[in-house]
Amino acid sequence: MSSGNPCLTCGACCAFFRVSFYWGEIHSDFLVPESLTEPVSPAKMAMQGTNQTQPRCIALEGEVGGCVSCSIYPNRPSPCREFEAFDTDGACNRARAAHGLPPLEVQPIAA
Ligand code: SF4
Ligand code: SF4
Repeated sequence: MSSGNPCLTCGACCAFFRVSFYWGEIHSDFLVPESLTEPVSPAKMAMQGTNQTQPRCIALEGEVGGCVSCSIYPNRPSPCREFEAFDTDGACNRARAAHGLPPLEVQPIAA
């Protein structure tokens, strides 16, 4: 199981970035639960907990670096859907480093 999805034992990005998105995602096919969001501008919402000095999304379950999950995974907003492990701009590893986790270096095998 150790060669599986690294996100299942990480969660660092959910406790590092502000997760903001167009407010319409609450009413789109995503149906992001409004009760877990807060407005950050006239057109944008953010996941509660991510717009603070030490971010941690309200929907993140478990401890970063341990066994984690997203309590609204089927309804997560677009930034979460687009964010990737093994990304090319290093955002994933920046989040991991901030939580003392080693960088992901092995590229996944293409499907
Ligand atoms: S920081 Fe990277 S490895 Fe960790 S949960 Fe986010 S995308 Fe996955
Ligand atoms: S909604 Fe889920 S995937 Fe997105 S930041 Fe929160 S816990 Fe992470």
